[in-house]
Amino acid sequence: MLNKYAKLAVKVGVNIQPNETLVLRSPIECAEFTRKVVKEAYLAGAKKVHVEWSDEECTLIEYLNAPDETFNEFPKWTAEKYEDIAKEGGAFLTIYAQNPDLLKDVDPKRISNFQKASAKALKPWRSYTLSDKCKWSIISIPTESWAKKVFPDVSTKEAMDKLWDAIFKCTRVDNGDPIKAWEEHNKNLKSKMDFLNDNNFKTLHFKSSKTDLTMDLPEGHIWQSGASFDPKGVSFNANMPTEEVFSMPHKFKVNGVVHSTKPLVYSGNVIDNFELTFKDGKIIDFKAEKGFETLSELINTDEGSHYLGEVALVPFKSPISDTNIVFFNTLFDENASCHFAIGSAYKGCIKGGTDLKNEELDKYGVNDSLTHVDFMIGSNDMDIVGTTFDNQKIQIFKDGNWAF
Ligand code: ZN
Ligand code: ZN
Repeated sequence: MLNKYAKLAVKVGVNIQPNETLVLRSPIECAEFTRKVVKEAYLAGAKKVHVEWSDEECTLIEYLNAPDETFNEFPKWTAEKYEDIAKEGGAFLTIYAQNPDLLKDVDPKRISNFQKASAKALKPWRSYTLSDKCKWSIISIPTESWAKKVFPDVSTKEAMDKLWDAIFKCTRVDNGDPIKAWEEHNKNLKSKMDFLNDNNFKTLHFKSSKTDLTMDLPEGHIWQSGASFDPKGVSFNANMPTEEVFSMPHKFKVNGVVHSTKPLVYSGNVIDNFELTFKDGKIIDFKAEKGFETLSELINTDEGSHYLGEVALVPFKSPISDTNIVFFNTLFDENASCHFAIGSAYKGCIKGGTDLKNEELDKYGVNDSLTHVDFMIGSNDMDIVGTTFDNQKIQIFKDGNWAF
């Protein structure tokens, strides 16, 4: 299963082609699996695989002991390295596995300062990933602290096993031929995507017992799903798993109230049971039962973090939600639930978007920010009705699932 998963990440995730460079970012706890990915990448013809290890324990030691100014800067040479590799056509694979509570005792100001410093430094590189100018993918594998957060009532070993099982199921690795299963899956997602693109909705109305929000989509918006394509036309899957069909809201045309339906892990802290109120696209009020301060730091990152940059439709019934697990990991939780993102839009979600200049973005209703953070809003009583430009109303979601 591990070999299959490693191969899937290389072949379907970043889809490494002969002579390409791969940057592989991994927690040290995931070394055994990471070595398998390195091997698969070379077997696929990679020229060079750069592995970048991270260690949460060291991160925590730094946050608790380093001087304040440490968190106001991000090494320029790291940012330049990423940008250089992206420019040269390299690919990026991240193994994302965090202890959701890692930074719970750290001063939130330190965290948000570092978030801002790193986001600013990495912005040129992110402009490649946000517009699919390079191939990138995110996958997860269990770590002990994460597994114990998801399954607190069993032993660490059992928690690890359970999380592995869930991940294999959600990523279709447990399927006889996962690469083929993903082809099929991408095809299914495409049929939903085509329906949304063909109808060219002007407005979406989200309604459930807790949420009541209308959102206009900008003219020329594009729904995307599953596989993306780099400038050479080579496909890749940026998220594994993925169940979403996503686009961008009009930056200034979101109104109403939206309530979260799953906990959101943001920079080592959990935010839960929160509500955002929008007027003309802007978050004008918010509350949170848990993690209010963290949410506040997120929303106040910059001007763009007061607006939305993504709308994603995910049926309540999916392999991930069928596991009935709250993963405390956005890669999984966002793919079990309709979600929005605070912050930057994907420029590929509007016609000509990747060529838009920064000063033109507002005019087209495209949001830009240092941050992009998904949060989950889907539920089994969520209805979504779309209104087309010629004023036809079409039910898109009924009771949490696709209505067509
Ligand atoms: Zn999304
Ligand atoms: Zn997103």
